[in-house]
Amino acid sequence: MPEDIKSRYHSILDRINTACKLAGRDPSGITLVAVSKTKPDSDVLELIDAGHLHFGENRAKALEDRMASIEDPNVQWHFIGTLQTNKIKFMAQRVNWIQSVHKKKALEEIEKRAAAENREINVLIQVNISEEDQKSGCDPEELETILNTAQPLAHVKVKGLMGMATLSDNPEIVRPEFRKLRTLRDEHRHMESGSVSLEQLSMGMTNDLEVAIEEGATMVRVGTAIFGERNY
Ligand SMILES: *Cc1c(COP(=O)(O)O)cnc(C)c1O
Repeated sequence: MPEDIKSRYHSILDRINTACKLAGRDPSGITLVAVSKTKPDSDVLELIDAGHLHFGENRAKALEDRMASIEDPNVQWHFIGTLQTNKIKFMAQRVNWIQSVHKKKALEEIEKRAAAENREINVLIQVNISEEDQKSGCDPEELETILNTAQPLAHVKVKGLMGMATLSDNPEIVRPEFRKLRTLRDEHRHMESGSVSLEQLSMGMTNDLEVAIEEGATMVRVGTAIFGERNY
């Protein structure tokens, strides 16, 4: 192994700590989600060994495989990719967070499957904050309807919003996008009721986590800087 995963992991924790210090924030208010994608289980196990517990996958099959082969009950599994309704049934058996919900229909399906498993599943509503058309997430105008649907649900717990900025390390491009997500959250605070609370803002990845923390992120999703480059 050219560079040790644990040392890269500690560098990321350092980056988070430094960003928090500059922003006057408490690092305990940031959850790092390690995004392992195509990397082997052994890499994930190394991080668990270092004490890390939050892991994310963006493909349903990858998450299924990971949850089946790594049985540690303390691990919190996050799904962060494009969510297909037919994948929810299986995911609901074990997933802790689904960060990429942007349709009423998906919320209702998660509720049904989580109820059948007698579990609660944390959900973030993904909002399209980027100017790039192909980025997924609901339009900001749809947020109110989605949150209305979520309020009475018993097994879905909406905890906040998720967004992906334009792929760029130019802070002047990504900052307004992150700020947009935070503003949207603030504007919808009055909808916190029943199963809806909006304390979480999942935004920021390898290239832009500092800007995201300055703009109020409570979760950052980091792949490359921990696990190394990948093919997609
Ligand atoms: C891959 C991925 C990440 C992590 O991206 P890096 O740039 O490798 O840190 C974060 N969020 C989502 C939704 C992803 O698909």
